[in-house]
Amino acid sequence: MNSSLLPTIFLVFVSFLYVAYIAAVHASEHNHNKAGTPHHDHHVHSSNLQAHVHGMAELTVVVEGKQVQINLIAPAESIVGFEHRAQDEQELAQINYAKQQLTNTAQVLKFANVKCQLTEQFIDLQSLMPKPDSHDDSHQHEHAEVSATYLFNCQQAHTLESMTIELFKHFSRLTKVRAIWLTRTQQGSATLIPSNTVLELR
Ligand SMILES: [Zn+2]
Repeated sequence: MNSSLLPTIFLVFVSFLYVAYIAAVHASEHNHNKAGTPHHDHHVHSSNLQAHVHGMAELTVVVEGKQVQINLIAPAESIVGFEHRAQDEQELAQINYAKQQLTNTAQVLKFANVKCQLTEQFIDLQSLMPKPDSHDDSHQHEHAEVSATYLFNCQQAHTLESMTIELFKHFSRLTKVRAIWLTRTQQGSATLIPSNTVLELR
């Protein structure tokens, strides 16, 4: 065989693979639409106070016995600056940075008058991670959210008076945190802004 033909054969082969790939993607999109899955099915809004607003996060603090559970939901835009699946190294780095900040609990949450120990945490940035398996989630969302859940064991949790939420320092796009809190005997809500980061729990 003439070796000069090899690049041509190679190109034909690659084009064939490409066409097959496109066909597969279309087929999976088709199946997806046929199933009629509503878009928002993928999100879990456990504490939604209102619709997704860029710059505004929602925080829930629940004090129960010795435990303090804190849940944060924020538009991805306010945490990493975009709401699509990461497309390059730079966006992946932004996701990693955000994850580090949210994981370093002592930097973002400070308890005023009780000693608390982190027992569990779950940082969810999945909505921004690239998915090689396009069948699983082939459509593009208009918005994306990130969430963080922290569970603390505290001494004298019921005496907790306030906590400082240091999110604005780390996420400059974030301008407001709407917080609701709940103890066995009381509940309340507050809006935190960069110049007022203390959440009073009484
Ligand atoms: Zn959005």
